[in-house]
Amino acid sequence: MVENEQDVALEDTDRIHGREALVNNVKAASSLADAIRSTLGPKGLDKMLVEADGSALVTNDGVTVLETAQVEHPTARLLIDASSSQDRAARDGTTTTVLLVSEMLHNALELVRMGVHPSVVVNGYGIALEEALEEVERVAREADEDQRLQVVRTTLEGKADSRLCDLFAGLAIQAADALSEEDGGGDLERLRVKRLQVRQGNVMDSSLVQGLMLPKSRVDISTPASSGGGVVAIVDGGLEHPKLEISAKIEVNSPGVIQGFHDRAIENLQRQVDHLASLGVDLLIVRDGIADEGISLLVKAGITAYRRFERTDLELLSKMTGANLSRDALHIDEGDLGSYAGRSEESIAEVKHTLIEGTRGGAMTLVVRGSSPAVREEATRVFDDAIGVAHRLTSKPGILPGGGAIQTHLGRHLRSFAPSQAGREQLAIEAYAAALEIVPRTLADNGGFDPVDVILALSADQSESGAWIGFDLGKGKNGDMGEAGILDPLFVVRHALSGATEAAISVLRIDDVLWAKTEIGTPDWKDEEGSED
Ligand code: ADP
Ligand code: MG
Repeated sequence: MVENEQDVALEDTDRIHGREALVNNVKAASSLADAIRSTLGPKGLDKMLVEADGSALVTNDGVTVLETAQVEHPTARLLIDASSSQDRAARDGTTTTVLLVSEMLHNALELVRMGVHPSVVVNGYGIALEEALEEVERVAREADEDQRLQVVRTTLEGKADSRLCDLFAGLAIQAADALSEEDGGGDLERLRVKRLQVRQGNVMDSSLVQGLMLPKSRVDISTPASSGGGVVAIVDGGLEHPKLEISAKIEVNSPGVIQGFHDRAIENLQRQVDHLASLGVDLLIVRDGIADEGISLLVKAGITAYRRFERTDLELLSKMTGANLSRDALHIDEGDLGSYAGRSEESIAEVKHTLIEGTRGGAMTLVVRGSSPAVREEATRVFDDAIGVAHRLTSKPGILPGGGAIQTHLGRHLRSFAPSQAGREQLAIEAYAAALEIVPRTLADNGGFDPVDVILALSADQSESGAWIGFDLGKGKNGDMGEAGILDPLFVVRHALSGATEAAISVLRIDDVLWAKTEIGTPDWKDEEGSED
């Protein structure tokens, strides 16, 4: 056998070193997994993260824990990257991903100890992944209206108070529906839904409003507080006096000089305001400041103005009204104008807020209420997760049974699939199958149930009633996950499987590279060794 020949060739330190590197890497992965294991599932515990400056954050979210931790080990970093990538792409399944990588590596190490070469494990894992991805498609169903809410609700399970999760799952679906007609990719939900925190009321009074709401008021209160719509222009700059260059010197030798400057500045502002008025603009949005004289000119021209905007808000306004961002007012022409459907102001928590509704494209504001910043932050995070999943579900509506069902099923499926494959890869596929069981095992463990009993019962019940039987932690027993409404999005499960497998494979390859390089005698393998230790 090839492996045996290599065993002989690499009998000395190089060979030991290769395995040592793997052992180290697996250890790093396990410690990382141990750090977040207890957060998995609805019964998962929260972690309190304390920053160097003493500020604390309480979270139940695996990826938040990992991204905040200061981790230096390259393998641990690789796992964190896999988890972050899961978060970006699927908005859920981050803890699962890390647990899977760690378990896949753990089982791989067992095989290597038995004498299976890492490259065989890599092959076997690749085959297992491919088969698992095909199998999940066979098990998946398409979510109906109710299930869409349930699946979003399941992804929030354990993240916050359950009434809050109910509310935010509903709001997220509502927002995702409003965005469903638009294109803009996975990030649309971040760009089109403004999150606004209001320091008043109860978090359960949080709501979703159409349009963009901002904590600001018009620059002059003599202009109307509300409007039923009109023409809007956006200046991506200011309406201010031209600033003198630092190096410029003005020689003031008569009182008229200053007056002359002033007059010219006013003339300049007047020209800009006249230009806007001639275009029929009645609502002006200015990114920077507006000079006092400019304000009174605008009032005279019947233009209501707002100033000082964040770039993202300006872009959202541009999208929802169709107005282009123009560098300065004089360069605005007919084609740069947009239209809005309404504008109103109201006082919330003694702060003036303005709501602008566009005429095209979805734009919404989630108004998060709550008396403490921590509560509002947590609620905002819950919403971010919820809408991330809800939005992706509109284009990818496949759902899978949660509660460890899909992983148990895949494990069983892969075990019966393994013998169809040649050679030692079979062992790797079986190791992969066993690794998937980390999900039901950890769910059970965190819920205070015996993991072995749960796995055995799941396996038995699935062989009787199929892949949709999972472990319902609320009831403490197995049941049909479709009926229980414990559902995981297909795209989350798919991404977690591929992300975890890829990460595990790249760790296994680290070892493989060391071996291969020593084998062909490439001198620079020592560098590799140095950087991996
Ligand atoms: P992740 O970061 O991986 O998304 P979570 O802490 O969100 O981790 O846990 C997700 C897991 O919890 C999924 O496997 C999901 O099916 C499972 N789960 C959610 N609710 C329940 C429940 N009521 N009973 C059993 N399992 C559940
Ligand atoms: Mg989750």
